Amino acid sequence: MGEHHPESGKRLSAIQDQLIQSGLDYVVRQFDAKPIDNQLLTLAHAQEYVDFVINNAPLQGNFMVGEDSVMNNKTLSSALLSAGAGVDAVDLVMAGELKSAFCATRPPGHHATHNKGMGFCFFNNVAIAAAYAKNKYDLQKVAIVDFDVHHGNGTEDIIKNYFIKNNSKDKNSYLFCSSYQYPFYPFEIEKSSTPPIINTPLDATAKSEEFRQVIREKWIPELEKFKPELILISAGFDAHIEDDMSHVSLTEADYRWVTEELKAIADNHAQGRIVSLLEGGYCLSALGRSVVAHINGLIGH
Ligand SMILES: [Zn+2]
Repeated sequence: MGEHHPESGKRLSAIQDQLIQSGLDYVVRQFDAKPIDNQLLTLAHAQEYVDFVINNAPLQGNFMVGEDSVMNNKTLSSALLSAGAGVDAVDLVMAGELKSAFCATRPPGHHATHNKGMGFCFFNNVAIAAAYAKNKYDLQKVAIVDFDVHHGNGTEDIIKNYFIKNNSKDKNSYLFCSSYQYPFYPFEIEKSSTPPIINTPLDATAKSEEFRQVIREKWIPELEKFKPELILISAGFDAHIEDDMSHVSLTEADYRWVTEELKAIADNHAQGRIVSLLEGGYCLSALGRSVVAHINGLIGH
């Protein structure tokens, strides 16, 4: 994104540091992502948009894909790895090789719509992983939950205006739950409290209690009704109290708590299968600690 931008490679180093510091690097298996097959990008994106991003990837200098989404000469390869991590993780989890997986990847994806990059995002990693899982493994029910402090507008767009529109059979195949500070970026958010979209706004003053209350009251009952065969998580950690990207004040304990709630649903309905993908989280220290809490929740450590 350019020098001094919060969406930087330091984020992944901060996560790696905390994995080592916590001892988790001995407990978890680590895999390198492979670049996604370009054809799979069209599971969630218009061919014209995919071509636009690929054809404009600069060899030097920058290219603006969209508002707040700037490519340099390394961005395309990173974006292909980021999306590739999601589908690789789906394969590992669906093969039963792993119960759950966390993808420490960037760039993030949940703001990328069917035909537009925005908000530091180019390809919608979680939506691609959802469609891939559904198609390849013939799943009937895939849930995506998003606790990034920004609404997952791209994911909502792709589910509503592409997945379901193109295939009316898929009307009941997806459930998307998103918690986010509101009013806040990306601003234009439709109210929805009925499947497939459960939007749960949080006031800027929200803390642990308000966050847990919306999850408990709005997400959990819908997830229980939906009975997902796989849960995908858009795991953004920018609602952390130390993260000045937002005003919401969560802590690592809240990320551990929400992860455990989701794990309980996955254990009940999805043979424990969870694939989690990193979205936001810009305070490096809080990000590293929050990811450790999240992974501890995933593995019940
Ligand atoms: Zn965010």
